[in-house]
Amino acid sequence: MMKPDKSAIVVNGRTYQTPKRPTVVICLDGSEPGYIEKAIEAGVAPTFARFMRDGAHVHASSVIPSFTNPNNLSIITGQPPSVHGIAGNYFYDVANDREVMMNDPQFLRAPTILAGMYDAGFKVAAVTAKDKLRSLLSHGLDYSDGRAIAFSSEKADHATMKANGIDDVLNFVGLPLPEVYSADLSEFVFAAGVKLVRHHRPDLMYLSTTDYIQHKVGPGTKIANDFYAMIDRYLAQLDSLGCNIVATADHGMNDKFMSGGQPDVLYLQDLFDEWLGKGNARVILPITDPYVAHHGSLGSFATIYLPTNIDAEPLIARLKATAGIDVALARKAACDRFELPADRVGDIVAISSRHKVLGTSRDRHDLSGLTEPLRSHGGLTEERVPMIVNGKIALPPGHLLRNFDVFDVALNRIQ
Ligand code: ZN
Ligand code: ZN
Repeated sequence: MMKPDKSAIVVNGRTYQTPKRPTVVICLDGSEPGYIEKAIEAGVAPTFARFMRDGAHVHASSVIPSFTNPNNLSIITGQPPSVHGIAGNYFYDVANDREVMMNDPQFLRAPTILAGMYDAGFKVAAVTAKDKLRSLLSHGLDYSDGRAIAFSSEKADHATMKANGIDDVLNFVGLPLPEVYSADLSEFVFAAGVKLVRHHRPDLMYLSTTDYIQHKVGPGTKIANDFYAMIDRYLAQLDSLGCNIVATADHGMNDKFMSGGQPDVLYLQDLFDEWLGKGNARVILPITDPYVAHHGSLGSFATIYLPTNIDAEPLIARLKATAGIDVALARKAACDRFELPADRVGDIVAISSRHKVLGTSRDRHDLSGLTEPLRSHGGLTEERVPMIVNGKIALPPGHLLRNFDVFDVALNRIQ
């Protein structure tokens, strides 16, 4: 196949040099700063240590809400949610009075960098842990000419040439289909990534894991160190295959429980029912998704829809005076500050403090799947994430790095 001769592409107003060697961008879901450092201290992550020493290690800010989908879509489009439209896993469709999942590409308002690179004639690949992200991240790819491959670990056994650009994935990767709640789901992503570089040599590849382990345990634990040691081994392989590698995270992770181990929850629907009468306000938790076992739909970000005749300001003042609330803002102020799409955000945005999560009503959260004390994310306290590169980078002075600059770093900034 002839290499396309285009030297740069423009996607959503940003310019990206086309890759001269295979370029791998990795989103380590929920990789709070500290996990990698602790694994290095334990002596199980020599490749990370080498990248951080001889390449680059910086920190970046995630998108708020610090949830998986908004951040993955920001990473793949290079833009905040105000541009790509995905402000959560879940939103309230006011026009049709229904709460809907935002898994479908119909909700995506911007093209992806991956599709831009594909359109310019390059080979691209994306592997995600969960299938919910795969359809969004692979939007715009065409599988008919063998230059695009995209699949999830979760549905690896369902991959077809027509829908994914590859089939017989379990055989190709050489691992069994992983459980959806497991470290194996993320390992499969990396194992697939290494095989893809070996056998398909994509010019640009995006790998996105799941934060099952980070929800479960903190940095420095045996389980966490084992997880990062596993990642480290695959990074060593990708590195030896001659890839440019940049790893970042969609968001961090914090303990969200009380001294007895119970989740520290502020039930906002109960609170608004008390303030405004039952069911008059509608609390939406954009963390909500079909995979609730590891967080019980409890995160640190909520948005509240009010009845039309109710003024938000006095309620914002009451929220601000409530223990565990870090930030409470009206829609416009929240959308300006966090670059969110106003039509997918309620009248009020509430963010909880470091160790607190926001719920709807006490009776609407199934916490039976929580086998460990709750760890979660969504707020400003989970905004800081690492960015690690296997080569030196040159950033413009004073540049406030975002995690969604990761493709810019990978394609434009490695020296
Ligand atoms: Zn995540
Ligand atoms: Zn999570």
